[in-house]
Amino acid sequence: MEEVKYELSEFKAAWQAKCPRCRVGHVYKGPAYGLKVQKMNSHCEYCGLRYEREPGYFYGAMYVTYAFAIAEMVTACMATYILTGNDSSFILYATVAILSVVLMSPFNYRYSRIILMYWLTPGLRYDPNVKKKEVDVKASA
Ligand SMILES: [Zn+2]
Repeated sequence: MEEVKYELSEFKAAWQAKCPRCRVGHVYKGPAYGLKVQKMNSHCEYCGLRYEREPGYFYGAMYVTYAFAIAEMVTACMATYILTGNDSSFILYATVAILSVVLMSPFNYRYSRIILMYWLTPGLRYDPNVKKKEVDVKASA
């Protein structure tokens, strides 16, 4: 029997944190926000893609996290500036900037790695014809 595979668009698959090669398997074990710390699967449960392609591969996600953090701090401080009507308290802006980064850190962690895998890694592309893995990769790795 042929397996029915739903095709997700690239952005929808990235938003749902699906495997960049098959867009079926999950990259993370749970949701971004929750009581448990986010954990990443080592391999795709569908196609068997190893997410950490080489040791230190996810260090590249640091640059994406940095860009996220700057954008979030600037946005939060601009919103504070507009909402408070040009308040010039340094403590207020420092608190808002730090709080925005702390509150957004689960999002940053999750999507910096997703962006790295989806758009910043040469040679890692969506393959609509990828087959469900035959063997258990955890046993063979
Ligand atoms: Zn996969």
